[in-house]
Amino acid sequence: MLSDDDRIRYGRQIIYPGFGEIGQERLKASHVLIIGVGGLGCAASIYLTYAGIGHITIVDDDSVELSNLNRQMLHWEKDIGGKKPISAANKLRRINSGIKITALCKKVTEDNADQIISGADVVIDGLDNFQTRFVLNAACVRQGVPFIHAGVNGLLGQITAIVPGKTPCLACIYSTPPVFEETIPVFGVTPALVASLQVMEAIKLIAGFGETLQGRMLYFNGETMEFAYEDLVKNPKCSVCGAGRRNFKENRK
Ligand SMILES: [Zn+2]
Repeated sequence: MLSDDDRIRYGRQIIYPGFGEIGQERLKASHVLIIGVGGLGCAASIYLTYAGIGHITIVDDDSVELSNLNRQMLHWEKDIGGKKPISAANKLRRINSGIKITALCKKVTEDNADQIISGADVVIDGLDNFQTRFVLNAACVRQGVPFIHAGVNGLLGQITAIVPGKTPCLACIYSTPPVFEETIPVFGVTPALVASLQVMEAIKLIAGFGETLQGRMLYFNGETMEFAYEDLVKNPKCSVCGAGRRNFKENRK
């Protein structure tokens, strides 16, 4: 149930048609996981915190470096050398003391992915590599947790909402994880924009209104300011969500 303070604090979103107090209560009762608290994860966690998600868990194993500071808004000069989830959680708790923030200084692996995402309502992709995204995608499919995938490169961004059992998964879209050999360029505004869209998707999925990017990839090109959509197709033989799927134990070997 919402408190009187909640009704004031979130009043401007509660009056949104189709959202209402019920929508806000759903956000308050939800647990959102952000895997990776870099450019995408910082911006996503800020807006999830402002929106009043009741429990936010941020997961990352990296430490803050000077080269992160052109885009990773929650990490400041004084945080260099510290663990990213701690740095982020400290700021987020000061933004909103009415919600629970959990900092998890861990790398997501095949061995711990299921345990980390267990009980989450939505998982936000804040990763910078497809190998870990594939691990997370498979765990989300196994656990039936919606996974909001996003990626950025320079001024390009992409985002889709993967809902297990309903939409294609990441392994349907890419037969193997794309590999980037070199450090990818990135401006801070690109992850900020795409992460805002991720939070918009999370809010709609949790509160149950609007149309999400289920079964569609949204591409953004900041050089030309174009948005484009691609309809995604489920691969019936997908090794994660289709007929090629092996059972859980086999998968973990
Ligand atoms: Zn699939």
